[in-house]
Amino acid sequence: MLALITDASRGIGLGIARALLRQGDTCVLTARKISDQVTALQQEYPQRVHFVQADMADESTPQTVRAYCEQTFGQVPDLLVNNAGIAPVERTDMLTLKRENFEKLIHINLEGTFFMLQAIAQGMQRRGSGRIINISSVSSYTASTERAEYCIAKAGISMMTKLFAARMAECGVGVFEISPGIIMTDMTACVQDKYRKMIDDGITPIRRFGMPQDIADCVLAVASGKLDFCTGTVLHADGGFQIRRL
Ligand code: NDP
Repeated sequence: MLALITDASRGIGLGIARALLRQGDTCVLTARKISDQVTALQQEYPQRVHFVQADMADESTPQTVRAYCEQTFGQVPDLLVNNAGIAPVERTDMLTLKRENFEKLIHINLEGTFFMLQAIAQGMQRRGSGRIINISSVSSYTASTERAEYCIAKAGISMMTKLFAARMAECGVGVFEISPGIIMTDMTACVQDKYRKMIDDGITPIRRFGMPQDIADCVLAVASGKLDFCTGTVLHADGGFQIRRL
């Protein structure tokens, strides 16, 4: 299987790539710059790790990445994992959130994801098969007033999943959302102590940080084809965060 994972030089994207490579798949990874971890993967899995330097802020990125896949493999990927997503430029009260910071995040996390999805979905439509996974967040339905732009973008990713699931079903393409909770990556490094305390205090029934492998395991489930009667489905990889409790 050929998989495309956006923003995969570190963190969750890299964890997903590792898991797919381990089971024999070929992966195209994107990020703004190649990391030591990706270089190591290329040595470990010669021929099966492809890196495309791409900034999700660039409007040309979806076409560049699709062209790379079509020229190198003669097709769009079988599996697209829309993992791309940046953290807010700064955590700040939404009453003083700067327009430029709002626009930057929406441009990358929402527009970037939509047009990447559109570009690959067109190829999947022609082929009549494929699977798509969007990485959202518990922030798609949880209000963090110091990260308003991030929450708004993730809520949009949830609707994007429903829209593409409804549109692509007749094309033989399943569309899924994985909603991670608190995952240990560079993105959460700056608030690790705060989150550790919240986890210890029971914010999630399963009292531990999630790891990239937890998200990768959900991707493997979708990629396995065992969920092929599901579409628009949300996999909550969050230690039970989404359960309302009294
Ligand atoms: P990280 O910050 O650990 O990794 C970010 C990745 O994105 C890197 O590969 C980075 O590489 C790349 N990147 C950043 N900016 C751009 C850009 N403009 N264009 C292309 N690539 C870029 O993030 P996570 O692994 O934690 O997050 C991955 C996804 O999971 C995101 O969508 C995030 O919102 C979501 N998520 C994360 C959670 C968590 O707790 N960590 C919880 C819920 C959701 P480079 O800098 O080289 O470009």
